[in-house]
Amino acid sequence: MKRIAVFCGSSIGFKSIYAEEARKLGEYFAQNNISLVYGGGKIGLMGAIADTIIENKGEVIGVIPKLLRHEEVAHTQITRMIVTKKMSKRKVRISKLVDGYIALAGGFGTLDEIFEALTLGQLGIENKPIGILNTNAFFNHTLQQLDHMVSEGFLKQNNRDMILVSENIEELIDKMKTYQAPKMSKVVNTVASK
Ligand code: AMP
Repeated sequence: MKRIAVFCGSSIGFKSIYAEEARKLGEYFAQNNISLVYGGGKIGLMGAIADTIIENKGEVIGVIPKLLRHEEVAHTQITRMIVTKKMSKRKVRISKLVDGYIALAGGFGTLDEIFEALTLGQLGIENKPIGILNTNAFFNHTLQQLDHMVSEGFLKQNNRDMILVSENIEELIDKMKTYQAPKMSKVVNTVASK
């Protein structure tokens, strides 16, 4: 894996463990020559991971929409910043650059980005690994909701299983390296037809 997109909070969270893990992931990327592709911000967990990689002489590529490119938000020390016209274009640009996706703790933006990647995977438009670094069991409630979708007939188990989860960075990256996308067509799979 040469380039990974990380989606994570533009906030830092109330517990220090979230930023600590973001920094550990940054160290891992720099040590293993993995480039970070991310939203280009200098705030919250986004800033924590980007700063760590820069400090450790790794590569950081930001992809930011024009409207967020103001001083308080955009990182100015990263390797390369790509500016897109719209929020929606940013996600497409990110997906073209990376071999996989990782979500850390975050809010609406993080969920939106990771669920878009999952939706593309579900439709067979992409087959890149999608990992969740489940620091402090942050995503347990989200994962429970997904299990509920399966049991209520709105999500197929093999699509649910596309999400790779670990609290450990090495284990998560290993799962991503060996990921096999489920075989499926580009049309929406209805659960009822299983
Ligand atoms: P959230 O989880 O709501 O804090 O949103 C974080 C995600 O949305 C990040 O992965 C970014 O790609 C994007 N995002 C949200 N706010 C910003 C911002 N101020 N600057 C750059 N990207 C942002």
